Amino acid sequence: MNPAAPPAPLRAPLEIEFDYTRSLGPVLTQFMTALAGRRILGARGADGRVHAPPFEYDPVSAEPPADLVEVGPEGTVVSWSWMPEPLAGQPLAEPFAWALIRLDGADTAMLHAVDAGSAAAMRTGLRVRPRWAPTRTGSIRDIACFEPCDGLAGTAPRAAEPAPEVAAGMTITPVRLHYMHTASPGESSYLRGLAAHRLLGQRCGVCGQVYVPPRGTCPADGVPTHEVVELPESGIVTTFCVVNVGYPGQRVTPPYVAAAVLLDGADIAFQHLVLGCDPGEVRMGMRVRAMWGESGTISHFAPTGEPDAGYESYARHL
Ligand SMILES: [Zn+2]
Repeated sequence: MNPAAPPAPLRAPLEIEFDYTRSLGPVLTQFMTALAGRRILGARGADGRVHAPPFEYDPVSAEPPADLVEVGPEGTVVSWSWMPEPLAGQPLAEPFAWALIRLDGADTAMLHAVDAGSAAAMRTGLRVRPRWAPTRTGSIRDIACFEPCDGLAGTAPRAAEPAPEVAAGMTITPVRLHYMHTASPGESSYLRGLAAHRLLGQRCGVCGQVYVPPRGTCPADGVPTHEVVELPESGIVTTFCVVNVGYPGQRVTPPYVAAAVLLDGADIAFQHLVLGCDPGEVRMGMRVRAMWGESGTISHFAPTGEPDAGYESYARHL
């Protein structure tokens, strides 16, 4: 490694996940409930065309569907794309095809997975049928996937069975993002400083403003910032809010204060927690100090007890 070269930027995997819960509405509730009973419903539009899955509002008349009709369960592949390396959470763990499938009796196609075994076995015009999940809950996943009809025994549609009791009406869609984040050189310098309990910002060579965490450039002048500035652990609260609303995974019990903290000598504030006093005592201009947590992170800021800063001293940083 070239000793003159700056250290490589830091990289780390980031994972964001949450459950998105929403109401299905009257039409999709019927669609999902029918899936639990191994039936697939479509909606007949004002122009006579049958849409499957059913529309919630007719694309021609904008009216809700008057009646839902059963379609399929077999259908024809009208377009497809091979998924050679399935991702976690997708319908199948082995390579499969995403396909648009026009179910018998429908005029539109629905998207689902086809377990064809290989890309060579996939083709437009392939006849497929649903492979039902062993346990059905009133979800699109009640269809585990579609599979080719050819060569399979018992291709005749199964008689519909009574729908089990399902809690249709609401659906939970898990959202997961997994990606590798690469910090900028300025961020990397800041993070390495934190590990050593040092707060490192950068000063713009044109306007002299000090940014912490450093952005790598000055947003006012558009020039790179190279001069590293070490800042003290102390600063003031410029603005704040009292968080009273709880949410899953919350690490601090409400009520607590999230504040914009302006370190002494910095020109921009950053967001952090202010703990160590009653939320009702936090105020603009309050003097605070960083409290270090584990693994070189600032756990929160706590009041120092010093006299408040005058409004004029931070008015231009709001
Ligand atoms: Zn500048």
